[in-house]
Amino acid sequence: MYKYYIETSKTESGILHLILKAKHQDNMISFAPGQYVCISFVKNGRKSPYRCFSITSIPGQNTIELGIRIGGVFTDSLTQLPRGTEIDILGPYGDYVVDKKLDEYIVLIAGGIGITPNMSIIRSLLSSGNKLPILLLYSAKYSSSMTYIDELIALTKKYSNFTLIPFITSEEDKKLDIKVVNGMIEKSHIERIVNKDYLTNTYFICGPKLFTTNMTTYLESLGISEERIITESFSESSQIRNISGRSISKLTYMASGALVLAGIVSIGMLDLVRYVPKHLPKVTSPAPASASNSIDNQSNTGTVSNTNNNYQAPVSRSS
Ligand SMILES: Cc1cc2nc3c(=O)[nH]c(=O)nc-3n(C[C@H](O)[C@H](O)[C@H](O)COP(=O)(O)OP(=O)(O)OC[C@H]3O[C@@H](n4cnc5c(N)ncnc54)[C@H](O)[C@@H]3O)c2cc1C
Repeated sequence: MYKYYIETSKTESGILHLILKAKHQDNMISFAPGQYVCISFVKNGRKSPYRCFSITSIPGQNTIELGIRIGGVFTDSLTQLPRGTEIDILGPYGDYVVDKKLDEYIVLIAGGIGITPNMSIIRSLLSSGNKLPILLLYSAKYSSSMTYIDELIALTKKYSNFTLIPFITSEEDKKLDIKVVNGMIEKSHIERIVNKDYLTNTYFICGPKLFTTNMTTYLESLGISEERIITESFSESSQIRNISGRSISKLTYMASGALVLAGIVSIGMLDLVRYVPKHLPKVTSPAPASASNSIDNQSNTGTVSNTNNNYQAPVSRSS
């Protein structure tokens, strides 16, 4: 575990930009661009759960930057933490990482806050002078909700190997200094990129689960092989899967499994109860004068019926 503390915390258009600084210079996290960390903090004497966030900054510094969409209890609590608050960090995790030997042309496809790991990749590759061509398809609802958009546009002007196509699904409520596509990223857009060039493209897709699933399906239907499609889904299940230890979710699965097992055992017992009176030898003892309860074997409903005809006496196993 790494100990960091909040150096700066700034909220802008529903996104919390956090800069965390290493508490000890000899205990800094070493990560590859595109990876993520899981963080936890103590508030009012209670330790929070761990939640995961992609690193947006460049490796090799004593700080890491995160871009966090504020939505629920955890992220809201984060916004209230004062400067200097200690943050526990686990990680780094994830395979959303460029392989400079294999990846000759990089297509990054980001949905909403799924831009974050791509920021680290773009910032790192461009600032290191790497000439790998990078194409970024960035989809968001409004132009005003496109986090990092001004920086990205500026980078297209500075680096000829970086191309950006913003997709705006609702409206361009803030005029962007770049040509935008109005609408979602469709299969036809992906098809044009796939057909235009390159068998050597590697596709990196990050965003909500449905977004990554759709983009992956488009690519696979166009014949792109699995190993050229790298995805990161910001879903809850990936989060739980990646934190070590036994998660609540796993316990829930185990409890459900135990309930199913208990159900199967009870049904088995019920069948046994039905089977035993029917198949064990009848003991000849006089039937009581009054009607008694017996389990109705014919109907298989397990209901108890009142009948004299089907009477079976209590079984005695003594010979
Ligand atoms: C690998 C990975 C990288 C991520 N990177 C980023 C990032 O860079 N920026 C960013 O803003 N977000 C990122 N996320 C998503 C982020 O971890 C969650 O959205 C966030 O923790 C939810 O916090 P909250 O305060 O909104 O909700 P919480 O208070 O944590 O939970 C409130 C409710 O939301 C549910 N929930 C919690 N997490 C998720 C989730 N991931 N998906 C669906 N439901 C959830 C909980 O079950 C609960 O019901 C990433 C997730 C993963 C798995």
